[in-house]
Amino acid sequence: MKILLVEDDRLLGDGIRAGLLQAGFAVDWAQDGRTAELALSGEAYDAVVLDLGLPRLSGMEVLARARAARNAVPVLILTARDTVPDRIAGLDAGADDYLVKPFDLGELQARLRALIRRSGQQAEPVLAHGALRLDPAARSASWQGQPVELSAREFAVLHTLLLNAGRVLSKAQLEESLYGWGEEIESNAVEVFVHHLRRKLSAELIRTVRGVGYMIPKAAE
Ligand code: CA
Repeated sequence: MKILLVEDDRLLGDGIRAGLLQAGFAVDWAQDGRTAELALSGEAYDAVVLDLGLPRLSGMEVLARARAARNAVPVLILTARDTVPDRIAGLDAGADDYLVKPFDLGELQARLRALIRRSGQQAEPVLAHGALRLDPAARSASWQGQPVELSAREFAVLHTLLLNAGRVLSKAQLEESLYGWGEEIESNAVEVFVHHLRRKLSAELIRTVRGVGYMIPKAAE
């Protein structure tokens, strides 16, 4: 799950980024509006955390341009003041949710999980697929009722494949969902994670589509 964090306050941005990483999200951090606009036009994100007061291009403008470009990514805005007009304007410009600073990091994490769940048209907070149960809030997984220990990245690969069940994801797409800007990507990382997941869960769950990538088939009804 990859988040675009747009925040020009270094201290606050650092704290939010750390909180999101800790919750298992990959994070790209843009510190001005133009960088955010560029990132949104070039990459797919699961959600955006958007500050409104930004250098170079305001958060409201970033949001308006993304929606004008038919980008439907869930957006949570951060408003500095608890002013009703700010929130109304943000929601009317296409934001999906908001938090007023200062806010609790745990609440931000939970709101992002809810936004991502809704954008995937999934009502249940725990994902189920055959013998697999995946709880993004607790970051726990079980197979045939038995808890399975997964590393943060293994969990992220499984979560991404599960949310896209029935679709083939390329290695590049999976890598993109795992790593933020400036993070070193080990070569073959995705293959290694998939290998571990097959060993820990089942050899059949994740299919390799030769020359394309990986997929989890849609669960049987
Ligand atoms: Ca700001």
